[in-house]
Amino acid sequence: MLTRNASTLRAAGLRVTAQRQAIIQVLDDSDRPLNVEEILSRMTGYRSGIPTVYRNLQQFSEQGWVESIVGPDQVLRFVRCHSVKHHHHVQCEGCGRMVEMEGCGLRKALEAMATCSGFHITRHQLQLFGLCPKCQKGA
Ligand SMILES: [Zn+2]
Ligand SMILES: [Zn+2]
Ligand SMILES: [Zn+2]
Repeated sequence: MLTRNASTLRAAGLRVTAQRQAIIQVLDDSDRPLNVEEILSRMTGYRSGIPTVYRNLQQFSEQGWVESIVGPDQVLRFVRCHSVKHHHHVQCEGCGRMVEMEGCGLRKALEAMATCSGFHITRHQLQLFGLCPKCQKGA
């Protein structure tokens, strides 16, 4: 069990702890972003504190394994990233499910914005919302 996560951790030079594996596992098993309290409550069998879990999540975020997202309720949540390449996520406003999408498609638009503003644009974040196929049918 958890061998895939263990090798991910090792590859990044992070010490493989049961806690780190558990955090990644919780996010792997979730189809929607979770806040720190929710992650902690799903880590069954681990006694840990919110600051420790949060610190681990920040490290994972630096590695590109998770992304932090502030929801419309201003709560910080984390979602698991599967692609190491730049990508975006779209969240269903019906059921809350979040899906990772390959690629970006904004290169041309960003070039135009760079030209307009005179800025050299180094990165961007994009939050997409919509209705998933299931919720479109069920609506
Ligand atoms: Zn992501
Ligand atoms: Zn939905
Ligand atoms: Zn993009």
